Amino acid sequence: MAVKLNLCCVFFILTAATVKPQVNPETCRYPLGMTGGQIQDEDISASSQWSESTAARFGRLDFDTGDGDGAWCPDIMSEPGGFKEYLQVDLRSLHFITLVGTQGRHADGMGNEFAQRYRIKYSRDGGSWMGWHDRMGNQVVEGNKNTYDVVLKDLEPPIVARFVRFMPVTDPSSIVCMRVELYGCEWLDGLVSYSIPDGHQMIYRGLDVFFNDSVYDGATAQRLTKGLGQLTDGAWGLDDFLHSHVPGAWPGYDYVGWSNKTFPKGYVEVVFDFDHIRNFTSMKVHCSNMFSRGVRLFRQATCFFRSESEWEPDPMTFRPSAEPLSQSGRFVTVPLGDRTASSIKCRFHFGDQWLLFSEVAFQSGSAVYNTSLGPHKQGQPKKSLLGEDPTHKVDDSNTKILIGCLVAIIAILLTVIVIILWRQVWQKMLEKASRRWLDDELTARLAAQTQAFSFLRSSQSSEDGSGSGSISTYERIYPACADYQEPSRLIRKLPEFAECAEHLKSGTSSRAGVGSDGAPHYAEADIISLQESSDSGSITAVNMNLFAGSDLTLREFPKEKLTFKEKLGEGQFGEVHLCEAEDMQDFLGEDTLTEGSSESPLLVAVKMLREDANNNARNDFLKEIRIMSRLRDPNIVRLLAVCVDTDPLCMITEYMENGDLNQFLCSLRLKTLTGGEADQQEGSDEVSSVKLLGMAVQVASGMKYLSSLNFVHRDLATRNCLVGKNDTIKIADFGMSRNLYRGDYFRIQGRAVLPIRWMSWESILLGKFTMASDVWAFGVTLWEILTLCKEQPYSHLSDEQVIENTGEFFRNQGKQVYLPQPQCCPDRIYVDLMLSCWRRNAKERPSFQEIHAQLTESR
Ligand code: AMP
Repeated sequence: MAVKLNLCCVFFILTAATVKPQVNPETCRYPLGMTGGQIQDEDISASSQWSESTAARFGRLDFDTGDGDGAWCPDIMSEPGGFKEYLQVDLRSLHFITLVGTQGRHADGMGNEFAQRYRIKYSRDGGSWMGWHDRMGNQVVEGNKNTYDVVLKDLEPPIVARFVRFMPVTDPSSIVCMRVELYGCEWLDGLVSYSIPDGHQMIYRGLDVFFNDSVYDGATAQRLTKGLGQLTDGAWGLDDFLHSHVPGAWPGYDYVGWSNKTFPKGYVEVVFDFDHIRNFTSMKVHCSNMFSRGVRLFRQATCFFRSESEWEPDPMTFRPSAEPLSQSGRFVTVPLGDRTASSIKCRFHFGDQWLLFSEVAFQSGSAVYNTSLGPHKQGQPKKSLLGEDPTHKVDDSNTKILIGCLVAIIAILLTVIVIILWRQVWQKMLEKASRRWLDDELTARLAAQTQAFSFLRSSQSSEDGSGSGSISTYERIYPACADYQEPSRLIRKLPEFAECAEHLKSGTSSRAGVGSDGAPHYAEADIISLQESSDSGSITAVNMNLFAGSDLTLREFPKEKLTFKEKLGEGQFGEVHLCEAEDMQDFLGEDTLTEGSSESPLLVAVKMLREDANNNARNDFLKEIRIMSRLRDPNIVRLLAVCVDTDPLCMITEYMENGDLNQFLCSLRLKTLTGGEADQQEGSDEVSSVKLLGMAVQVASGMKYLSSLNFVHRDLATRNCLVGKNDTIKIADFGMSRNLYRGDYFRIQGRAVLPIRWMSWESILLGKFTMASDVWAFGVTLWEILTLCKEQPYSHLSDEQVIENTGEFFRNQGKQVYLPQPQCCPDRIYVDLMLSCWRRNAKERPSFQEIHAQLTESR
């Protein structure tokens, strides 16, 4: 990124210094300053933004200051029903724009959003807006196919504008992000519109030849007014007006022309309006001179000038000197005698039956615009190739080639420097990690623990796990079913994460926010992770895909039909209530009847957003609704309806009678081998290992579904699974998966929670959250299930030691401690499945499909 940026700057400086501005689309292709920073932040605006870190100012192509999330992303919630979001660039003055470039949100591998298609709108005055379309009338531009490649689009025809809007065309619910650049040059002409009579149609030897102004962007009644078009598109016509430089265009396409038959006065009147009063030196008009077909240069041009309301009485009259013998199209220069005006009205007198113009340009005041216009070489297309670097089009002289070579050498050198620096950063990080984890006394103890581990596996005999306690080299053993979400304990570790991440990417941790208690928030720790992950399966990447899925409509349920029964619990958004929902079944309709829910009124769980929630929490609550509304699986908690018209916002989910899986299992005992499966009593507090495996199968099935959507949960644990009738298990709590951008959503009363005991080593150290890290968490969840949540994972390790252990996974010297084999866990499940979920190499971990198949088989 840095290399590209520098290159761009070097190019810009070099080219700007050596090339005079001119409205030749072949050369007028300078980056206008989104990448280079010449366009100020305040001149970049947007209809909306997903978050502060994806505001309009981050929509600069190939540019990443590091303080945003790498692109502009509109807030799709702000425009339900229709996507009219735009990123607007104000160029501060009129520009001739020949090319646009777009890029998605790459964010060093963290992003996965880009605009596959978009439209362009532009305005010269900020008041009236025109939609760009190509010469065939297509308005939609094919955009990006990935987050990193810059896709350049030649604007054919080019536009003259001060304001340009990029409008992603997408499904209303999908998230797109854009970075953009405009290429062109300043529109020194100052011409803001011309007014001409509509062009005529010629029949030439039975062939229809159309001389209309097909790209005119103003009003097109009888006379074309208030717009610019073919006469200012920088493309002048071929000698033979029947042919065009635009492939597939109709005969006469390049020219706007009129027949003298409808002009009894013998002239065509054209009015030109300018941005302000100027001193005009000359006007150049490109005309056809195919006299063999009744087309000739104009015989005389009489131009009137207007600075205020009235046309001045003394016009300038000009007659081309000699009758040209050649039939080539040519520019005719009309001197304008340094007259002052803001409008010019010229009467072009017919030299023959037809008058055909393809381009008009002005020279005024200090403007040297178009002075180098020369005859266009016949047959040479002026259209540039898509995807070429616009800065390479400045000229082809040897000097420029030399400069190009120099820049290439600089680029190579910079690349080498960046690679060396990058390696150094990694080396430092590894050294630091080694120092910390290798030399620390605790590490030695962990090593001892590793050795004890094999013994522990074979010797563990007692049902309550006391065996592990007696072998542990650590004295701290947490009580069974401890409150594993004890932030104060976890938060103390966070600075270590930040420090670790700092080594991965300098400057990142300094951006991490600090909560009221001085600890970084989970959200910011997460940002670190988002920034660090380079895995294409990162959380942002995969979860964004979900939004692109089919839009399942969720309806507003009348709040007055909800009757409070009891409080079920409290989560990060607020309280969860058990309610009776009157007429819910009718509301849902037949096809959406919930399983076993024939009773009326239906019991539902209502999750409410607490009243003091800030805007971020509110947005995230709505985002969770959006995520959940698209999930439909027997093992995923189902969102039934919402109440979002009035506060408090509520999401209504199916009621899971037996609460969360952690508490549920905690209250059960493992069935002893003496009783067969058949003995199991309904309502008994005993549960067999087969039944436990059945629960694990259900969790695996839900995760299999999520992984089929490329959705990373990030907080899979028994506490986030709910238990319904007949021991149905459903995955819930998609809270963490929402945290796509920086924000304070995950601050829980100013504190943060990181589920380190469920997190893979790479999630903790590198901030990578992928399907494979979900698989890791599944391994821990499976372990929880098979131990009936009687103890916290690694209960004999303090939080510090869990993190030390993570370091051992990272160093991979065989000193890492694994969770021990639960008493009721068959060997093949432990060795082939559970341990494989904790493989160091994420790619070697099984997929949820494989896990599900393996568990189903082993039951
Ligand atoms: P949450 O805000 O999702 O973390 O939920 C907080 C608590 O509310 C959970 O731990 C459950 O005990 C309870 N709860 C949430 N959703 C449901 C539900 N659909 N059915 C029953 N209990 C629920």
